[in-house]
Amino acid sequence: MSCAKKAYEFLLREIGLGPRNLGCYVNGAWKARGPVVATLNPANNQVIAEVVEGSLEDYEEGMQACFDAAKIWMQEIIDMCDFAVGLSRQLNGLIIPSERPNHMMMEMWNPLGVVGVITAFNFPCAVLGWNACIALVCGNCVVWKGAPTTPLVTIAMTKLVSGVLEKNNLPGSIFTSLCGGPEIGQAIAKDTRIPLVSFTGSSKVGLMVQQTVNARYGKCLLELSGNNAIIVMDDADIQLAVRSVVFAAVGTAGQRCTTCRRLLLHESIYKKVLDQLVDVYKQVKIGDPLEKGTLLGPLHTAASKENFEKGIEIIKSQGGKILAGGSVIESEGNFVQPTIVEISSKAAVVKEELFAPVLYVMKFQTLKEAIEINNSVSQGLSSSIFTRRPDVIFKWTGPQGSDCGIVNVNIPTNGAEIGGAFGGEKATGGGREAGSDSWKQYMRRSTCTINYGSELPLAQGINFG
Ligand code: NAD
Repeated sequence: MSCAKKAYEFLLREIGLGPRNLGCYVNGAWKARGPVVATLNPANNQVIAEVVEGSLEDYEEGMQACFDAAKIWMQEIIDMCDFAVGLSRQLNGLIIPSERPNHMMMEMWNPLGVVGVITAFNFPCAVLGWNACIALVCGNCVVWKGAPTTPLVTIAMTKLVSGVLEKNNLPGSIFTSLCGGPEIGQAIAKDTRIPLVSFTGSSKVGLMVQQTVNARYGKCLLELSGNNAIIVMDDADIQLAVRSVVFAAVGTAGQRCTTCRRLLLHESIYKKVLDQLVDVYKQVKIGDPLEKGTLLGPLHTAASKENFEKGIEIIKSQGGKILAGGSVIESEGNFVQPTIVEISSKAAVVKEELFAPVLYVMKFQTLKEAIEINNSVSQGLSSSIFTRRPDVIFKWTGPQGSDCGIVNVNIPTNGAEIGGAFGGEKATGGGREAGSDSWKQYMRRSTCTINYGSELPLAQGINFG
């Protein structure tokens, strides 16, 4: 598991990063007055590069400038953005006939001003894209705080955006970005100049952020934790199901919001599927993701590895039987074995999101029972069923079916790349950061009644002289 050091040094130069980097793009310039943090390669825990995080002074300077820039950005300037070529032409309101003479009604969609975006470590650029592209073409400015463990990605992404703004002679403060932790996140959540905060991360932190934003009557867009199940029915294509489960449970080391964490197998195919899975798990190539053929890379941090170990102990104490894996791999990196656990759907640990490649397997007899188990957790992000029967498919996708935001058939829980973007229900937060009409969340609707005559058909019967 040697680390391809040269490869990432080259990559850093390619994206304009050095050994120590300033972590804030505020008022169109790079600066930072906070603590210095190091980004570690999870494959060997060696330093890749350092970043100076933002201080609250940096935040305030950035917000002031962003708030001012919002006044300019609300104009036709949005047409400058490539993405706006499509979407900016579709931010339509309605003209509604009125029952009153010489009156009409109009629905207008206006920008909110400044949109705050707080993102998680595991999708360090995609989530920014889902939010910032739409927020910007809607005429908003963006203040972004990435995850504290991925500051190099935050800086590299910001360099791309700031390059576009500079080429078009636009103020850099239209897009403000800050490397930092909870302190900057809280500043965004509390800031009354930010009418919408889009938060992607854990349900625990998301709830706190929502309460803070709501307390000042702000709006929140939440994309939070998942605890996703795949159901395999008795008539399923077993090869398709097994391949899908391996991709969904092992890929990205189980660190996707849409990772499959629970596998529900019909009793008649239970043993067959499980035997195949255990066999495939033995063949998974674990190692540095920069090496060809690696399927399972390291967990994100040493703390994630510790969480995995603690999780396995809890699983065992709640009656879980380890069928594959179950251990950390002794190395300088954060490697763990892909793990399969046979456990009751009622065990408390099964209701939580353990952010690691651990798959809980359970048996069911009827579709009704499988749907009940699928819906029995607080999270409601993604879910999949493997079957060929139309009656099962429509039950699964209908009102008595899966209660998740993503309801798939014959494709894994993380099958659609923009899965998280379509959002989840319940403790996953109900957010919709992308998708056909998500732009409405980044704008405010004005309902306008226009009287183009000279009569006022109100307060009749009063003589105004
Ligand atoms: P996290 O909740 O620990 O952190 C998310 C962000 O919140 C980070 O930028 C962090 O610095 C910030 N933060 C922490 N404390 C804060 C506070 N008090 N106020 C404001 N901001 C604060 O999550 P994580 O470990 O980075 O990411 C993993 C989690 O994110 C998982 O639960 C995963 O399911 C979820 N996730 C969900 C989606 C989705 O689309 N539903 C996508 C990616 C990740």
